[in-house]
Amino acid sequence: MRYVEEFRDPAMARALIARIGATAEAIGASPGRPVRIMEICGGHTHAIFRFGLDRLLHGGIEFIHGPGCPVCVLPMRRVDEAIAIAGRPGVIFTTFGDAMRVPGSRTSLMQARAAGADIRMVYSPLDALDLARRFPERDVVFFGIGFETTAPASALAIRQAAREGLGNFSVFCNHITVPPPIRALLEDPDMRLDGFVGPGHVSMVIGIRPYDFIPGEFGKPIVVSGFEPLDLLQAVLMVLTQVREGRAEVENQYARVVPEHGNPASLAAMAEVFEPRPSFAWRGLGEIDRSGLRIRARYRDFDAEERFGIGYAAGALPEEAAEGCACGAVMTGRIRPVACPRYGRGCTPETPLGALMVSSEGACAAYWHYAGARGPAEDGGRRAVRGGGRGGRHGPA
Ligand code: SF4
Repeated sequence: MRYVEEFRDPAMARALIARIGATAEAIGASPGRPVRIMEICGGHTHAIFRFGLDRLLHGGIEFIHGPGCPVCVLPMRRVDEAIAIAGRPGVIFTTFGDAMRVPGSRTSLMQARAAGADIRMVYSPLDALDLARRFPERDVVFFGIGFETTAPASALAIRQAAREGLGNFSVFCNHITVPPPIRALLEDPDMRLDGFVGPGHVSMVIGIRPYDFIPGEFGKPIVVSGFEPLDLLQAVLMVLTQVREGRAEVENQYARVVPEHGNPASLAAMAEVFEPRPSFAWRGLGEIDRSGLRIRARYRDFDAEERFGIGYAAGALPEEAAEGCACGAVMTGRIRPVACPRYGRGCTPETPLGALMVSSEGACAAYWHYAGARGPAEDGGRRAVRGGGRGGRHGPA
């Protein structure tokens, strides 16, 4: 397949792996003193495990799996509120499939649907708009989740609903943005990171300039990357090369897709419909300033928070985690999924206790599916680059 197979070429992968190894040696990286590179995007986490890249690289390179899976970071309280909205009389609640099994404090959307709520999976907010047209007597709510990748589609749906006067359509907005959590991680004194692999899909929308603060204020390199094996290998090499040369810059490995200044039409739609919340809660990370989006007053008629009387109060989170769940420590790279006491012991993709086991982009689910239930440390052997594995959907990034 064009633009896919050429980015999975085994000979080129071997050449890049050799150059990565030589560069890692040159900067003195070792298993005891690794270079720690955070891949921010859950799609990258998924690809790293799917293609076994963690196994193929020099032992002195450690991937830290960042908070870039929007389903995984959705606070439990917001899932509870979504379920409460879905349970109101006359409501059709629509959502991306990934959010169906995310655990709330007592139940999930999937379980609420089994109990009788009218909850429907959609592929786009436009599907929800269509339901609103077809069922004018019902209240159709779209569960808006995801980063800057999916936020423009929600904004366009709201704008379209306003144009058509679709008074029975609203969005329960939980959209979040990528730069604020990166800043929060970099300001954490316990966090040691040497560089970042930047998100590809989000950067298609926002461009690469919003990451300037990473080298500018924190002296760390970031390379925006695509999702194929050669993309990721080249991005890792670019990060290591910056480290070796003592540089810290924003570089764009994914220039075939990511424009420097993003997508102006998407950015304009987002700016028209959304504004930043003063702060927003991230599961496992806590409140992060200006990291969430809310619907502007001009479009309040299409805001499910207004329609159903749901406020957002910072710092009022209930107990977030099941007993022994280490989602927060995994999401901030402090431990690997296999170190969580519940990994495989009560928490599996079939029965997830934490959100990281739900989505295919969650670090725990990626370990489980591709590194085996025993985890990579015990998995033995190194994996080959391959195009197989389970098909990856990049979800509501
Ligand atoms: S194994 Fe389950 S409980 Fe543990 S960190 Fe992962 S998702 Fe959370």
